[in-house]
Amino acid sequence: MNLNFCAAVLRIKRLCCNLKLKSAYALQLEGKIKSPVASAIWKPWGPNKCKFFLWLLLQNRIWTADRLLLREWPNSYFCPLCRRNLETAFHMVAECTYSKQVWNATSAWANCTSLSPDNWNEGNDLQTWFKLLTAGQTQQRGLQTLVLLVIWSLWRERNRRIFQLEELPPSRFISFLRDDVRTWVLAGAKHLDSLVAHIFEE
Ligand SMILES: [Zn+2]
Repeated sequence: MNLNFCAAVLRIKRLCCNLKLKSAYALQLEGKIKSPVASAIWKPWGPNKCKFFLWLLLQNRIWTADRLLLREWPNSYFCPLCRRNLETAFHMVAECTYSKQVWNATSAWANCTSLSPDNWNEGNDLQTWFKLLTAGQTQQRGLQTLVLLVIWSLWRERNRRIFQLEELPPSRFISFLRDDVRTWVLAGAKHLDSLVAHIFEE
């Protein structure tokens, strides 16, 4: 048999196999509703572990005190950041007085009013709140990366307080956050760079 003919047959077989796999994959996803927050989580620049954490947080799948309480597992009940309210995912990132101070400072650097708690609507759920932080903003990708970093940093501060029994006052937290912004920019977050380049000049 002609060698060229054999190669052509093999190519066609491979193509058919790929088509079947592609169709089977598409079939599995048929009827699924795309998450309204997926692209805001996965598309902006950011370390994968932070994005994965954010994904879990927005599905209310992280082990905050409210979820531990429901299962009657050990928990500290109160939010470790303010020690006033039951800790929920939404409280930790949006309602907590400590977190609000952080968002206020971040809103000022990024010159973005949608990050300021004064402009948030009460009654929004976690995913709606998250979407509205950057919806319709100029430099959206940079803002989404900044939001990812703020939320990740709040989670780390929460864990520092629980597991290391150490805490940062808001002013020090914000100072470290600015250092982390620089680190992320140096690591390749170019959209973030154009958003907050001025803090490098201070
Ligand atoms: Zn709190």
